[in-house]
Amino acid sequence: VLLGAAEAVDLVRRLEGKGVDARAAAIDWPSLMAYKRTFTRDVPAMTEQGFAAKGIASYHGRARFAGPRSIRVGAELLTGRFILLATGAVPRPLGIEGEEHVATSTDFLELDALPARIVLIGGGYIAAELSHLAARAGSRVTILQRGARMLPAFDADAVGWLMERSHDIGIDVRLDTVVEGVRTIAGGYSVHASSKGQPTTVDADLVVHAAGRIPDLDELDLDAGEVRADKGRLVLDDFLRSASNPAVYAAGDAASRGPPLTPIAAYDGKIAAFNIVHGNAKKPDYTGTPSVVFTIPPLATVGLTERQARAAGMDFRVKSAKVPDWYTALRVGEPTYGYKTLVENRTDRLLGATIIGPNAEEVINVLALAIRNGLGAKALEDAIFAYPTSASDIGSML
Ligand SMILES: Cc1cc2nc3c(=O)[nH]c(=O)nc-3n(C[C@H](O)[C@H](O)[C@H](O)COP(=O)(O)OP(=O)(O)OC[C@H]3O[C@@H](n4cnc5c(N)ncnc54)[C@H](O)[C@@H]3O)c2cc1C
Repeated sequence: VLLGAAEAVDLVRRLEGKGVDARAAAIDWPSLMAYKRTFTRDVPAMTEQGFAAKGIASYHGRARFAGPRSIRVGAELLTGRFILLATGAVPRPLGIEGEEHVATSTDFLELDALPARIVLIGGGYIAAELSHLAARAGSRVTILQRGARMLPAFDADAVGWLMERSHDIGIDVRLDTVVEGVRTIAGGYSVHASSKGQPTTVDADLVVHAAGRIPDLDELDLDAGEVRADKGRLVLDDFLRSASNPAVYAAGDAASRGPPLTPIAAYDGKIAAFNIVHGNAKKPDYTGTPSVVFTIPPLATVGLTERQARAAGMDFRVKSAKVPDWYTALRVGEPTYGYKTLVENRTDRLLGATIIGPNAEEVINVLALAIRNGLGAKALEDAIFAYPTSASDIGSML
């Protein structure tokens, strides 16, 4: 919802002088937040009502194991033949001085007023998304990223194109920069870091954690449940069942088997439920799960990246170009549009695809369907898509 407003403002600004008068385009943060809350406010109560209607009891509180088949929530002790862990993920501890001053992405998404200066610690998709939103809304944003580039799991060329766009909207991305501490100063915070070996500081009104998330297992007392974890991750078999306690299953970010995404949490939930009810019969298959960074424009990917395909020794052809002159981008004045596709030579199978540009978050679903079902490039080239739509560009991307 927040991004919808940022997209509207950005679109109007891009079409300035191309038939649109952009003078009034601005984000009204408090009214946008109020609108956002109309989407989120009622969800917990409605979900619980839905549960109750199906005979599912809800308890509120921090749950922890009291034994291999029992869970304590507050004063209640619950016992079950099976227990499903779906506790999600939390920001990983930074282990820096002043960590208590660092807000989470959840805090950011509840801000009543937008701070003038924001520092994001970390350079993954949360930093990319929040920076694009905040910059469009008028904040000065600095990203401090430990690695040599942002979004290391995504294609390097496409990330490079996104970086150009981020730079053009005023986002200051500092790579090879390790945050060492956050101190309070008059009217805000001072973030201390070492950048390429040199000490540096950035002052901000808000400092946000965007440095990765880990399964939320700490308070579960896994030992009491005889549930084994290794390096902060549950040890599961191929059916999402605990390797040490056959009564326990896990799903979603807590299981951390598939990518940490909402559709994967739902998919895991169905697999675990099926295995609980019918006996272990289904293994999750995450092939062809698309992943989108909701920047403006979005960056979307599915399947293997070029680096992964090379590391796997595969024989494939690559087609890649930056194409801001294609109609999909021109019609909305978007300067960033590009793609990369990988097709296996022997089988003609689509191995992977990355798109950055207008509607990439939708078009990637077509390619995800192709990868999940082993469709060849020829099938995609032969498909007849509605014209003019962004999906009708797919044929030219292969
Ligand atoms: C900023 C941000 C943006 C994201 N954007 C996207 C996106 O665009 N698309 C996408 O697919 N995914 C996105 N994700 C990831 C997505 O939110 C997660 O993958 C998804 O919510 C995982 O679902 P889950 O059910 O496993 O866990 P969650 O949705 O995290 O739910 C876990 C719940 O368990 C509760 N809990 C934890 N421990 C206990 C305990 N001991 N006792 C009782 N309750 C407990 C937690 O409070 C929480 O309510 C985003 C995540 C973040 C942080």
